[in-house]
Amino acid sequence: MNAVRYHKPKDMRVDNVDDPRVEEPRDAIVRVTSTAICGSDLHLYNGLIPQLHPMTMGHEFMGIVEDVGKEVTNLKKGDRVVVPFPIACGRCYFCTHALPTACENSNPNYGPQGGLLKEKGGALFGYTDLYGGYAGGQAEAVRVPYADYGPRKVPEGLTDEQVLFLTDILSTGWTGVDKAQLKGGETVAVFGCGPVGLMAQKLAWIAGAERVIGFDRQQYRVDMAKKVANSEAFDVDEIDPVDKVRELTDGRGADVCIDAVGMEAEADAGVLERVVDIAIKHQGGSLVAFKRAVDAVRRGGVVTVLGVYTTDYEFPWGQMFDKGVQVWGGQAPVHNYIDYLLQLIQDGKVRADDIITHTLPLDEAPHGYDIFNKKEDNCVKVVLKP
Ligand code: NAD
Ligand code: ZN
Ligand code: ZN
Repeated sequence: MNAVRYHKPKDMRVDNVDDPRVEEPRDAIVRVTSTAICGSDLHLYNGLIPQLHPMTMGHEFMGIVEDVGKEVTNLKKGDRVVVPFPIACGRCYFCTHALPTACENSNPNYGPQGGLLKEKGGALFGYTDLYGGYAGGQAEAVRVPYADYGPRKVPEGLTDEQVLFLTDILSTGWTGVDKAQLKGGETVAVFGCGPVGLMAQKLAWIAGAERVIGFDRQQYRVDMAKKVANSEAFDVDEIDPVDKVRELTDGRGADVCIDAVGMEAEADAGVLERVVDIAIKHQGGSLVAFKRAVDAVRRGGVVTVLGVYTTDYEFPWGQMFDKGVQVWGGQAPVHNYIDYLLQLIQDGKVRADDIITHTLPLDEAPHGYDIFNKKEDNCVKVVLKP
C-alpha cells in the first residue's frame, strides 16, 4: 500500500510499504478514508523532533474497519471510525485516571521523567520512535492498537470532514478551553490562528466566553479567525498583542490565554540552525508565544499551552508567581472529550470542517506539507484522501 513516510527533515515521500495486519488481540486494521496534516507533523518536518529512520506519518485519521483481533468485540468489519491520536491501553493507572496521554503500556520509552530525549508518556500514531514508533495514518491503512478503547463509531449522516478533527485538533482546542474551567463571561485570548487556535477560539464560545480574541502572524489566518470563529483577531506583526489585550480588558489582561503556537513562534530558522540550537543551547525554537500569553493574562488568570515545546526554556516564573497564574500544558487527552465533542457536532453547535483549505490525494502529500509549512496558497488545513 502507499504511505507518506518521513525520511529526513523536509523530505516526505509517498512510498510503497507492506500492508498492516493484526499483530495483537486488541488490534484493528482501519482502511483510511481521510487523514490530515497537523502542525505537530511540522515539528518532524522541520527537524525539531528527531527520527533516525523512515516512518509512516499521520495521527489525524479515520476510516473503515477492515479486520479486528479476537479481543476487539465492540467493532466489526465495515464500521466507520474516528481514532484518537494518543495510543492508550485503557487499563493502566493513568488510563483509568483520565490521563490517556500518560498511558504506561503503549510506549516502550515510557517513564516518569519526561523531556526531549528522555522518558516519554503514552505513544502517539506516526510520531517518532520516542513516541512508540507506531506507523501513522497518512496511509491507505493503519494498525490501531487497543482498538477496543480508542476508536469511536461515526453516526450515520456525518461526512468525514465533519468528524475527522475529533481525532486531534478539535479535541485539542477543547483541552485548552476545558483546562481553564470557564464559568461564563470570560475574555479568552488565543495566540495562534492555525487549526488548533481556530478550534480553541470556536470552542471558547461554547464554554461561555464573552469575548474571544485571536492572534497570528499571517493576515489570511487572522481573516479566517474572524470568519469561522467570530473572533476579534489581529496580526501580531502589526500590533502588540499584549497591549491589545489590555486595551480590550480595562488594562487588566485576559482571564484566559491559550498558547496555540508552541516553539515555532516566529521561527524562520533553517534545519541546521534548529539542530544546533537544540545541541548547544538545549532549546528548540522559542518561548515567545508562551511569554506573551503570560504577559497578557490577568492576575489570577489561567494560561493553557497546546502548542508543543520539547526542551527546557528560560521560564518567567517570578512574573507568574507574582501574578498568581495557573498553567496547564500537554498533549490533549482526546479520549476524555471525543464523545462530548461528537455530540456538539451532531447537534450543530460547532463545526470543524470550515477550516479545510486543501483536499489532496495521498500522492500529493509532499506538496501539502510544503504549502502548510510555508503558509502558502492561503493554506490552513490539508486533508489527504488515500
Ligand atoms: P500551525 O503551525 O498551523 O499554527 C501555528 C500558528 O501560529 C500559525 O498560524 C503561525 O502563523 C502562528 N504564529 C507563529 N508565531 C506566532 C506568534 N508569535 N504569535 C501568534 N501566532 C503566531 O499549527 P497547528 O496545527 O494550529 O498547531 C499549533 C500548535 O499546537 C503546534 O505546536 C502543534 O504541534 C500543537 N498541537 C498540540 C497538540 C496537543 O495535544 N497539545 C495537538 C495538536 C497540535
Ligand atoms: Zn496533531
Ligand atoms: Zn494505559
